[in-house]
Amino acid sequence: MSLLIKNGIIVTSLDEYKADILVEGEKIIAIGEGLDGRAREIVDAAGMYVLPGGIDQHTHFALPFGGTYTRGFETTNAAIVGGTTTIVDFVPQPKGMSLRESVAKHIEEQAKGKAMVDYSFHGMVMDVTNELFEEIPKLPEIGIPTLKMFMAYKGTPFMCDDGVIFRGLQAAKKAGVTMMVHAENGDIIDVLQKQCVEAGQLEPKYHAVSRPPIVETECTSRAITLAEAAGAPLFVVHVSCIGAMEAIRDAFAKGLPIYGETCPHYMVLTVDNLAKPDFEGAKYVCSPALRTPEHLEAMWQAVQKGWLQVVGSDHCGFNWKEQKHIGYYDFTKIPNGAPGVENRLAILWTYGVEKGRITRQRLVDVFATAPAKFNGIFPRKGHIGVGADADFVLFDPAWKGRIAVENSLQGVDFSSYEGMEQIGRADKVFLRGKLVAEKGIFLGELGQGSFIKGEPYGTAYSGL
Ligand SMILES: [Zn+2]
Repeated sequence: MSLLIKNGIIVTSLDEYKADILVEGEKIIAIGEGLDGRAREIVDAAGMYVLPGGIDQHTHFALPFGGTYTRGFETTNAAIVGGTTTIVDFVPQPKGMSLRESVAKHIEEQAKGKAMVDYSFHGMVMDVTNELFEEIPKLPEIGIPTLKMFMAYKGTPFMCDDGVIFRGLQAAKKAGVTMMVHAENGDIIDVLQKQCVEAGQLEPKYHAVSRPPIVETECTSRAITLAEAAGAPLFVVHVSCIGAMEAIRDAFAKGLPIYGETCPHYMVLTVDNLAKPDFEGAKYVCSPALRTPEHLEAMWQAVQKGWLQVVGSDHCGFNWKEQKHIGYYDFTKIPNGAPGVENRLAILWTYGVEKGRITRQRLVDVFATAPAKFNGIFPRKGHIGVGADADFVLFDPAWKGRIAVENSLQGVDFSSYEGMEQIGRADKVFLRGKLVAEKGIFLGELGQGSFIKGEPYGTAYSGL
């Protein structure tokens, strides 16, 4: 089957030009003009931007948290309709199980037969043992070149002390595994949480009080020091505040391989959401916490300047009614995380490109190209080029609407961005040459996604 995408404007992380794309089977085989005679089927993309399918490097499908689970891979069609064709999901590590066994289990029991996006994985350390450090360098053998450790969540088996992080960084370096960290000072948070609870401050808004920006700034700086001491690269996920962003920026400027990601909710939602009445604030309980407006502007600036390289959703599909309500009488028990895998492109376009904060090229980079590089799946993914997978979005910049839970496929009973204006949307989405969504309607099949193995040290390709 050959397919021609005609008359669109191709946008990459570097350039923008009018050309047609010829697809044979699952791959792009030519880009240019005068290709009509070689195609059986023609799709007219006049008036559309053709963007590479998004890579969301930060999702948590089927994640256990506080005795409950997020929505699973049967809701990954939400990614597709929003223009994301590949996710890199964090694999939970059950107690007593190795990372590699955890990955095999997550694929077998969760992703296989259900995923509607292509998928890759990060290891996620939730059970620290001595064997862990021997296992880390072997992760690339199974296509896993990235690993996350937590410096927060004291009192859980997954909070790692500095020694564990340092040893982890040393082990990762041996095999080109990129270490990622959740950087918040778990000890300070633990004290502040207990003080809030003792003072009877139990509503969702105290989530932010117990996790002020300084706990993130301090921990990010410490993680950078540990990486420098180990001579290893570091990728800091979900950066939300000015101090943490500046620590990453300054380390990179010094010549260190230190990189970072922010998320759409840290760019458009403020701490005020946590104070919404009638427990509605619980919808916005995620870690790090939402911030005041000056931090949001700094996140946009960081994305614009390349000080943070990636925007990932940190998608966590917890329902408000049954799951967020676990913490109705105590905010420390509210499952952390918010849905958003569907909305990343919409937020970046509407509040970034349309507002003149970022160029279309920067959008493509943080949305698709850079995360493909960091996760070792570039140039097969995250790029429109000859030989790449035919994953792309025909983006209609003229569409206008509002984000609403009733149009959502995330399988969650609320939207983090409810009622917000949206300009532009994914008019058509192609996954490996197949039309899988049109105008917000999913047209693909359950289980159509494939496991994409990542190569070690995606950071080497970053070009930043
Ligand atoms: Zn996360």
